[in-house]
Amino acid sequence: MGHKRVYLDYNATTPLHPEVRKEMAEAMEMFGNPSSMHSYGREARANVEHARKTVAEFIGAHEDELVFVGSGSEANNTVLSLFACASNLCIPGFKGRQGIITTKIEHPCVLETSQCLMHRGSQVRLLDVDRYGRIDMEQLKEYLDDHIGLVSVMTANNEIGTIQEIREISRLAHEHGALMHTDAVQAVGKMPIDVNDLEVDFLTMSAHKIYGPKGIGALYVRKDTPYCPFIRGGHQERGRRAGTENTLGILGLARAVEMRRVEMDDEVRRLAEMKQVLKDGIAASIDEVEFNGHPEHSMSNTLNVSFPGAEGEAILLYLDLEGIAVSTGSACASGSLDPSHVLLATGSSAEQAHGSIRISMGRETTMDDIRYVLDVLPRVIEKIRNMSTAYVKGGAHAAAE
Ligand SMILES: *Cc1c(COP(=O)(O)O)cnc(C)c1O
Repeated sequence: MGHKRVYLDYNATTPLHPEVRKEMAEAMEMFGNPSSMHSYGREARANVEHARKTVAEFIGAHEDELVFVGSGSEANNTVLSLFACASNLCIPGFKGRQGIITTKIEHPCVLETSQCLMHRGSQVRLLDVDRYGRIDMEQLKEYLDDHIGLVSVMTANNEIGTIQEIREISRLAHEHGALMHTDAVQAVGKMPIDVNDLEVDFLTMSAHKIYGPKGIGALYVRKDTPYCPFIRGGHQERGRRAGTENTLGILGLARAVEMRRVEMDDEVRRLAEMKQVLKDGIAASIDEVEFNGHPEHSMSNTLNVSFPGAEGEAILLYLDLEGIAVSTGSACASGSLDPSHVLLATGSSAEQAHGSIRISMGRETTMDDIRYVLDVLPRVIEKIRNMSTAYVKGGAHAAAE
């Protein structure tokens, strides 16, 4: 008798939407190269361009402004690397502006690219965040000068769900002659996103976070914005990204977007309700918990919580034994078990950061799943805390008494 399985790691990836699977299964027959001029090629081209229109319209963009890329990570690498290019005069008008401002809580694909550019001589400034994960606007004003070519701030954080004031940030960037990029991988399809409302020049999205396939993303590039391809060698994507198009992925992404258009609003309401039940339930049944992220400006699907005295990895593994899949912010994949850079940036102690888990919900999550978590989690935390010699109930306070 197998027990219940509950997937609560939607911010890591999502299952394919059944409609996406159907679309892709049919599209597998269509093998033509969209660059070919015969009927096989023309059929593929027509489908790719139709998909481009669908995806572009979903974020308020024109189809000419949308470049299909291999992932969200590639889109982010492309934009940041433009400014390594700026020093080489690839993008006229930006000579001397190879500086980048980004934040301490970005996805590793932004942070590591920034670091690499810094080593190659670009100026990179990392913005601090407050305890809720929101950036410091005064510091942004202070950092903006005429060496800065790009400001890159994520719309919604993948670990703690905090949402930034992207439009305000764009305006400040533009006032100082810089371009604006946002990594909206966690936001597109989970909240209304319009590139004109946000006033951004570049925006990153990825299919597999919204029930589409892995290995396909899109980069929005505003009309007439300086640009330089990251992958060279072909005229695909109007010379903005070489390589034969991933037709299957592109059609899957477009179908995923169409389904988001239908399902998003109701789902957001449903998830917000479940998040509240989850939060209240945890607070009522477990001692000394700390919720991370912004209390209001936060994704309705994401709850990040710290349990001092319990290691996040232990919680994850014990929950997994009960069929529940969550994640921790630690870089355990690299074998280092560093505490989450996001939580440290919000001022969490290393202990608090180590003891945190991220519960991220999605379209298949039910209230029944949430009740199951609320049944299992208190037992798991108690068990781990009892095993931990370091944990003293009441923390340092009680220990001192
Ligand atoms: C998942 C994610 C990415 C990376 O997207 P991939 O398509 O997996 O490369 C980038 N930024 C954020 C915020 C993400 O959550």
